Amino acid sequence: MNADAQREAVYGAPPEMLADRDDLTPMLSQYADLCEAHDDALVLFQVGDFYEAFCGAAEAVARTCEVTLTKREDSTGTWPMAGIPIDNAAGYLERLLDAGYRVALADQVEDASEASGLVDRAVTQLITPGTVVDEELLEAGRATYLGAVARDGDTYGISMVDVSTGECLVTGADRALALEELERLAPAELVVGPDCDLPTLSFNPMETPFDPDAFGTETARETLSAYAPRPEAVVESTAELRAVGALLAYAEYAQGDSKLEYVTRVTRFDPREFLQLDATAIRSLELFDSRSARAGSTLFSVLDETACALGRRRLESWLRRPLVDRDAIKARLDALDFLAADALSRADLRDQLSSVYDLERLVARISRERASARDLRSLQTTLDRVPEIRETLADVDAGVLSGLRDSLDELEDVRDHVDRAIVADPPQEITEGGVIADGYDAELDDLRGTAADGREWVANLEAHEQERTGIDSLEVGYNQVHGYYIEVTNPNLDRVPDDYVRRQTLKNSERFYTPELKEREDEILRAADRADSLEYDLFCEVRAAVAEESERIQGVADALADLDVLRTLADVAVANDYVRPTFHGDDGASDVESESPAGVEIDAGRHPVVEQTQDEFVPNPITLPQGGVALITGPNMSGKSTYMRQVALVCILAQLGSFVPAKAARLPIIDRVFTRVGASDDIAGGQSTFMREMSELTEILHNATSDSLVLLDEVGRGTSTADGLAIARAATEFVHDEVGAMTLFATHYHDLTDTADERAGVFNLHFTATQTDGDVTFLHSVADGPSSSSYGVEVAHLAGVPSTVVERARRLVEADNGDADTVATIDDTPDEASYTNTGQGPDHTEPKTQQDETLAAYVDGLENGQHATDGAEPSDPGADRVAHEVADQLREADLVDTTPLEALNLLSDLKRRLE
Ligand code: ADP
Ligand code: MG
Repeated sequence: MNADAQREAVYGAPPEMLADRDDLTPMLSQYADLCEAHDDALVLFQVGDFYEAFCGAAEAVARTCEVTLTKREDSTGTWPMAGIPIDNAAGYLERLLDAGYRVALADQVEDASEASGLVDRAVTQLITPGTVVDEELLEAGRATYLGAVARDGDTYGISMVDVSTGECLVTGADRALALEELERLAPAELVVGPDCDLPTLSFNPMETPFDPDAFGTETARETLSAYAPRPEAVVESTAELRAVGALLAYAEYAQGDSKLEYVTRVTRFDPREFLQLDATAIRSLELFDSRSARAGSTLFSVLDETACALGRRRLESWLRRPLVDRDAIKARLDALDFLAADALSRADLRDQLSSVYDLERLVARISRERASARDLRSLQTTLDRVPEIRETLADVDAGVLSGLRDSLDELEDVRDHVDRAIVADPPQEITEGGVIADGYDAELDDLRGTAADGREWVANLEAHEQERTGIDSLEVGYNQVHGYYIEVTNPNLDRVPDDYVRRQTLKNSERFYTPELKEREDEILRAADRADSLEYDLFCEVRAAVAEESERIQGVADALADLDVLRTLADVAVANDYVRPTFHGDDGASDVESESPAGVEIDAGRHPVVEQTQDEFVPNPITLPQGGVALITGPNMSGKSTYMRQVALVCILAQLGSFVPAKAARLPIIDRVFTRVGASDDIAGGQSTFMREMSELTEILHNATSDSLVLLDEVGRGTSTADGLAIARAATEFVHDEVGAMTLFATHYHDLTDTADERAGVFNLHFTATQTDGDVTFLHSVADGPSSSSYGVEVAHLAGVPSTVVERARRLVEADNGDADTVATIDDTPDEASYTNTGQGPDHTEPKTQQDETLAAYVDGLENGQHATDGAEPSDPGADRVAHEVADQLREADLVDTTPLEALNLLSDLKRRLE
């Protein structure tokens, strides 16, 4: 049964109940009604201390939560039933969410003891991946977005809300860009508007069907106007309006149809204001998730020295969204300069920020009327830190830092209010008293005084009565059911005075009260009861007053988050020896004379993640001019992929405003990073990895600009060598001639390296290996020029493969490279002739706008075999094919891991095929 079918059997009223509808007990009938009314969720039905599910839903709950499947038997039948304890529901709800269920909580909404007959129940909350707010279900350092997508013609609107913090974002773009943004924000749950027709998304959100009317322009405007008085001032297109309107409507619905008080502002952004990182790039650069053996090591984990949850979420959002605005980047770098030079302030800030609570979520809880007295105290202790933090920053004059300092509102009014109102160490419960401090409210103080006087009177009663009656063993006590009593043991009963009234008989004693004791008791209880309910009211007032200041608190949270990230980046820079990057154009017009006007120049760059896990990381330089294409060759494991990624990571770090792992870096501001990792390196593929490889390549070729950085890692590997090489070559030429993107291309197609001879912007880099003490050592050091055509064979030699085998292999490789005299059987290989035929390349003068047509022409050419075979048609296609295959097999043989015997077997096999 697939997931959808499974949910079918769980959502809605159980068919077996509907069949017996008229005979159901009132309670099950109520259950069936609620299931019908909420047929898009698994209904959990409160029965006393448990949430119960019945029939199909019970089976799902039992299976998913690993609880016992029991049954409920009544006059109408036997119903499968499973329940989870309400006190302890969070863990079970999490399992249900993880299993892909939406859950509706049907709570008892009247006191069971006061209900006449059936207790009233209603769905009070919908729990879905994007709407959970329970602390236990949320990851502290991560934003959990609920998203919506809407469409208006060619424009797509995207909106996100983090219901735990109230952050609400909206943006709009064309379809491709919008999809990318969606991938980047990766909401846990997505409400999809009419006609949006989304492709399969890589992050696999729960797709939620929602009332299409909510996406209507007018309806959406109305919804949004509750949050932004002039909706048009917030959004820039109808698509955006629809997305954010429907999103807020759904979030309201999920929390029981009320306005989301914690959403204090709706922020619009333009994706073009950020460095574009699509899901593929985020994945293959391992920014957040690692798929390699260095489990857990990602750029994020290297950077994450944040002191508080606010900072952690902010760091994540900065990393997902590096900047392109030169001034904004510079401002962050200036702040880092200041902090990096001041270890003392950094340490102080870290200390101060580490005792800061998650203000964003706190504010959301306060607005949602879910905050406890402890939460208010947490708010206050956090606000206590603010003056200290301001003090730490007293002397800064770096723009951003002083701005942050000045925006740190100390919120003294809020702080003092909480401090006056709430006791120092309040209980978790807010309904049972002990929450409001003495001296805050005169009436409460009075009531407490009355209760205290009464208790004192009772406390003195024992001694008093002992004296009056002469019974030394007389005790005064209290119990929940009977209240205050005077206890006299049986032997002393004859001395009991007349005003004692018998209350309770025990085995060895009797309990009494006196009219005065009763009177005092009523007084105490009345006062205590009234005090409790007054306290609750007062607490709610305080909470509401604090909620009024949500926006100001949110502002402080914002500043603290930025501050934590800046100090984190400074810490990381100092600890790991990063340098401040510079950007072309930073220092006026000097670029015009510079040799590589806007390229990437990195001196002794390092991979920020690999360097952490490697004993000795070898730094490498790069000079990649604008429009330049570097072809990188070298044996497996020599460091090609690491090198390319470190270049991209340096650029990303720089644009997020961080220092970078290098000795020096002079960089362009890039608009997008594209990555394409060949199919053989990416086994997670699914159906046709080659198809995917090609469609991703297509996207790069279509969308890259001269300001983009493109990484191609082993592209073309997923098909035969001849095709793969042809595609790799065509792509290289196209990227160089038409796109002009800065490109790094790691390739095992050695034949590709001669493209450098034909095109000015294309150049070769290579990695090599050497032998020390009989072991092959990879130098991990980049050098100019192509690697030797037979580097694989050389590595085999270094590894100790017998010299006859190595020699024979070397001659075969040379033959394959067109050295016709060496081996007669494969001398007419067409490779050289065809690939040096530049006349078949694209029309270099074609204007940029024709990029797509040129690409199409290329693909046509490939399909007709033009690029691969023009100019030197092999005389015997069959023999040629065999020769090619043999050469491929040889080139791809992993000689490092080959034993001499295996190598001999391989050779004899190859020889047989040639003959
Ligand atoms: P390739 O892509 O050429 O097969 P990789 O880039 O995957 O090689 O590198 C293989 C391994 O070599 C890496 O996992 C890393 O452990 C190590 N390595 C790569 N570059 C360096 C370097 N510059 N210094 C030290 N070790 C490195
Ligand atoms: Mg590699």
